[in-house]
Amino acid sequence: DKRHDIVIIGGGAGGIAVASSLHKRRSDLDIAIVEPAQDHFYQPGWTLVGGGVFTPEQTRRSMRSVMPSFVTWHQTAAERLLPDSRQVVLGDGSALGYRALVVAPGLEIDWQAIDGLEETLGKNGVTSNYRFDLAPYTWSLVQAMRGGKALFTQPPMPIKCAGAPQKAMYLSCYEWEKQGVLNNIDVHFHNAGGVMFGVSDFVPALDEYVQRYGIHKQFQQNLVAVDGPAQKARFRVTSEDGSEEIETDFDMLHVVPPQCAPRLVRESPLANEGGWLDLDADTLQHNRFSDVFGLGDASGTGNAKTAAAVRKQAPVVADNLVASLDGKPMPSGYPGYGACPLTVERGRVVLAEFGYGGQLQPTFPSWINQATRPTKLGWNIKAQQLPFIYWNLMLKGHEWLAKPQRRS
Ligand code: FAD
Repeated sequence: DKRHDIVIIGGGAGGIAVASSLHKRRSDLDIAIVEPAQDHFYQPGWTLVGGGVFTPEQTRRSMRSVMPSFVTWHQTAAERLLPDSRQVVLGDGSALGYRALVVAPGLEIDWQAIDGLEETLGKNGVTSNYRFDLAPYTWSLVQAMRGGKALFTQPPMPIKCAGAPQKAMYLSCYEWEKQGVLNNIDVHFHNAGGVMFGVSDFVPALDEYVQRYGIHKQFQQNLVAVDGPAQKARFRVTSEDGSEEIETDFDMLHVVPPQCAPRLVRESPLANEGGWLDLDADTLQHNRFSDVFGLGDASGTGNAKTAAAVRKQAPVVADNLVASLDGKPMPSGYPGYGACPLTVERGRVVLAEFGYGGQLQPTFPSWINQATRPTKLGWNIKAQQLPFIYWNLMLKGHEWLAKPQRRS
């Protein structure tokens, strides 16, 4: 069996960023990444693909091109995590040993949880920005639509980028408004939850756009089935009196399915009761296995599951992991920062930045950018700065925008 100083599970946002941050601190570390995929995606860009702003190819790079040269890449999936014996079992049955493990396999989207959905995705007006190959279909549906009924769904939390279901809706409405057809389109937001956004400071700005676009908000409505050819969607509606199912027709349906912890984590000793990585929210070290750390969407820490969170988490994991290898106290803390740039129209964004408990953590002082209002600067950051920051800073271990907090 092979052995490395550090084994990282996943070569997504978290895995690549943390490898680079570790190497910056200790270039002599033998680091391996376990990652089966050929492609690496800038998923935050998919909202803009669905809105006709980015081409799909702007969000994809080959995994080879983002894999740091100092990393040993095991191009296979991790099948089992055995933290008691400090081993990771790979697809071919071989095992990797480690001094420290970093777990960052993202989350699983449960497309099958919605009856009839998979077979109709990409046809019959049914789409989702949550898949690279479908985001362009969102934009073609939006461009073709002249009237009728458009539904946008949001599943129960947690999901990655909680704002993305409504971002798709606002950008669609903006285009319809521009084309002069919005008045002919009946737009509904079916949300399994009970609020437009989990952090209330951002809700007034969103409600203004709901009004402007004439969107019907439907709370406590969870999509359970789709009949593509008949263009009908079924929702489970929950109220104080119990729950019932309703059916409604559509011309366009943008679906965001429920999401869960990856099987690898769920079925391992590293999971909490919800199946997510059981990490200390401050240090990102595992609560029971001190040689295990984690970051990204698989984590059970209560932050917003975003690439923005990963940007701040990677240096924290790197600092604390290196200290723990040296038997020193862990120096860095993660305040739960995450960001969700809410694209309320093409050209303006509410740059929602917040930490644990919904505490606002704006990057800019209010005279530069108003934290809870739509701004042009926010759009510029979303459409131009953030992709650059992702590819060229975050994945490369340049941490100017992600200085960790010192723990007291
Ligand atoms: P990922 O980047 O998903 O990477 C996980 C990697 O692990 C993948 O490469 C996968 O192949 C690999 N993997 C999985 N299982 C295994 C296994 N068993 N063994 C080995 N490797 C494995 N974030 C923002 O900050 N702002 C936004 O505006 C935003 N918008 C979004 C919009 C959409 C439509 C979507 C889908 C996401 C959005 N996000 C946004 C969220 C952001 O993309 C994620 O939070 C981020 O990618 C999480 O990083 P990660 O490394 O945890 O997971």
